[in-house]
Amino acid sequence: MRDDARMHPSHPPRTLGIAARRRAMAAAAALGVPADYGRARGLRPQREPSRLQSIGLDTQQRPAWLRPRAAAAFARMRVAATRTGIELQVVSAWRSSEYQLGILRRKCERGLAMDAILEVSAAPGYSEHHSGRALDLGTPGFPALEEAFEQSPAFVWLQTNARRFGFALSYPRNNRHGIAYEPWHWCWHARLARHAMKPR
Ligand SMILES: [Zn+2]
Repeated sequence: MRDDARMHPSHPPRTLGIAARRRAMAAAAALGVPADYGRARGLRPQREPSRLQSIGLDTQQRPAWLRPRAAAAFARMRVAATRTGIELQVVSAWRSSEYQLGILRRKCERGLAMDAILEVSAAPGYSEHHSGRALDLGTPGFPALEEAFEQSPAFVWLQTNARRFGFALSYPRNNRHGIAYEPWHWCWHARLARHAMKPR
């Protein structure tokens, strides 16, 4: 069986344009995502980048991708962390709104209530992961995507240092989006990166 992503990890997958994103959002609405979801949660539709750059493999040995500037910033951050003995692992990076729709569909099929699903997964079209700027990070010795990540030396390091590389925690405790606390989810922001590069 052909698996292009594995055979040619340097060939980025194709990102979705606005029309494909709208189709995924319409399919999500048909599954029960409320029409006022974005406004009510203070979330904006996320545009997929025109280009993706490899950041190596994720913890499940799948090629992982970010938009080029975020990928470069992450590479620098990872090296800086490694120098202090911290290992940052990629659990998840870019994913398309179609992929997000698949996640939503599987959860619906398992019988989960839409409210409960949307507390832990962004609706298709709205996930920061679509933008190629967001990363779910892990570190050895801590289970992936669990709140216990906040007890890890990696999280402590990120809290002090991620900003220097343009990364910020998107969903702190009691965030205004009504999304569960995600100490593992970090997003690169061009404005933070600009500020971080300014000489002091
Ligand atoms: Zn995430």
